[in-house]
Order: sequence, then C-alpha cells, then structure tokens
Amino acid sequence: MANIIDGKAVAAKVRQRVAEEVKQLAEKNITVGLAVVIVGDNQASRVYVNNKKKACAEVGITSYEYALPESTTEEELLTLVDKLNNDDSVNGILVQLPLPKQINENKIINAISPKKDVDAFHPENVGHIMIGDYHFLPCTPAGVMELIAETGTDVCGKSCVVIGRSNIVGKPMAMLLLHKNGTVTMTHSKTQNLKEICANADILVAAVGKAGFVTADMVKPGAVVIDVGMNRNAQGKLCGDVDFEGCKEKAGWITPVPGGVGPMTIAMLMQNTVTAAKK
Ligand code: NAP
Repeated sequence: MANIIDGKAVAAKVRQRVAEEVKQLAEKNITVGLAVVIVGDNQASRVYVNNKKKACAEVGITSYEYALPESTTEEELLTLVDKLNNDDSVNGILVQLPLPKQINENKIINAISPKKDVDAFHPENVGHIMIGDYHFLPCTPAGVMELIAETGTDVCGKSCVVIGRSNIVGKPMAMLLLHKNGTVTMTHSKTQNLKEICANADILVAAVGKAGFVTADMVKPGAVVIDVGMNRNAQGKLCGDVDFEGCKEKAGWITPVPGGVGPMTIAMLMQNTVTAAKK
C-alpha cells in the first residue's frame, strides 16, 4: 500500500517560504506584483485565475487582474502585454491559456518579457531550462520535483518515465529529471510497448490528459507515481491520469487528484513571481 504524497501540505510549506521572502522584500520597500490576464469566459480558466489570485493574497503578492472579452484581438492583447512589460509594479505576467482562436498563443508568449515570464514558456526561458541554467522553472514540473523530493527519493541513477511530451509539462519535466541525473524515457502517443516501459520505472510521471490511463500493471512495485492529469470523469468529478485505487496497491508513493500536483503548480508560480521581483 503506497504512501500518499500530500500536495496540499507541501504547497502550504512552499507558500509559507514565499510569504517570508515577500515580507523580507517589503522591509526593503520592494513590493511584489503579478498581472493575471484572462481572455473570454472559459469556466476552467476562471477557476484557475481565481485560485492564483487567492494564493497571491495569501503570500502578500499584489495581483492585478485584466479580464478581457472573448472578442479581444491579438493586437489588443499584444498592446496590453507591452504595457505590462514596461510597468515596474508588475514583476510577473501570466496570460491564462487557452486563448480564443483569433489570437496566436505563441505570439503572445513570445511577447512577454522573459524577465517577467513566470510560467517559463518563453523560448528564451525554455532554452535556459534545456541548458540547466535557469531563472524560472516551469511551475508544474518544478512542483513535481518538490513532491518527489518530499518522498526522500534521490532521482540520481533512477529509471524515470514521463508519459506525455507537451511543451508545458512533459518536455520540461524530462529535462528537470535529467538535470537530477535520472535516466529518463519520454513517451507519447506513438510509443510502442508503453506498458512494459512504464512497469520498469522507479519514478513514473503521467501527463496525458486521459482519466485512468495508468493502470496497476504499468506500475513497478514500490515506484513513485506522480499524476499530473486533471480530467473530468463521466460524473464530472475531477480525476487524474492514474487509476489511483488500483495503483496505490502497488506503488511506494503516489499523488492523489485533487490534492497532489495541482496545488504545487500555483505555489511554484508564487515562487517564480518572488524570484522575478528579486531580479
Ligand atoms: P497535452 O498537450 O494534450 O499532451 C498530452 C500528451 O499525452 C501528448 O504528448 C500525447 O502524445 C500524450 N498522449 C496522448 N495519448 C497517449 C497515449 N495513448 N499514450 C501515450 N501518450 C499519450 O496535455 P498537457 O498540457 O501536457 O496536460 C496533460 C494533463 O495534465 C492534462 O490532464 C492537463 O489538464 C494536466 N495539467 C495539469 C496541471 C496541474 O497543475 N496539475 C498543469 C498542466 C496540465 P503526442 O504528443 O504523441 O500527441
């Protein structure tokens, strides 16, 4: 029976650390500000943005919300990003994705100043992550690394398998594990023998976007299983990519959904915003 990794508790520790840093900056008259931009009325995006604003308030970061209508043009959004890039009270800029179809997401990401790119999506920051010399770590993979550290598992030399190769989760996740000297296998929808590959992993990270995708036969006994997935099941309930009930019987450590990786992503965003303010 696996130990459950309590993402809420680890995230609370990170937020406490960040709150202390914000306090120390305030003593030097430095305030920390995060601009959160939301375009349109996507329900999930609204929940994420509200959670991010709540976390800011908790750690003492000032959040500035820019809620733009669904009809916003690319030009209008680029103008706002430019304004925020030049606003000294804003240390971090977060544009909530996805954006409406008339706006090219890459253009917007590329327009954010790399110094304020607290999501670490800008190609300049992605390059830094690749080299291993970074200002910001991408929030979700960085949160996963904290959760793995919490288990006391040393990544060095371990067989690590990442399912999913997206730019925001899978690819940077593999890089962070590699920087810790893990032996990393990246897998995706074209991977053959996925079950066998996963069943050899000491550390298995699932970022697929399919409820219950990882089953117990894909888990090595005693493995650390991290579930990044955030899906809705047929009943509309939030669930991960891992069949939690089945896999917890085999894994050594496992994250639940909710209460695993999700809270860490927001905590790491707070951390990145303070890092941006310090710089
Ligand atoms: P994504 O861009 O849709 O990528 C999904 C990846 O899964 C792709 O690389 C895809 O492979 C791979 N995949 C799909 N079917 C597969 C299969 N049958 N076998 C192996 N690989 C398969 O998704 P994402 O943005 O990375 O997000 C993944 C999940 O994490 C989603 O549920 C998302 O909501 C969640 N998420 C959670 C957080 C958090 O804070 N907890 C943050 C971000 C994302 P191909 O590349 O070959 O298509």
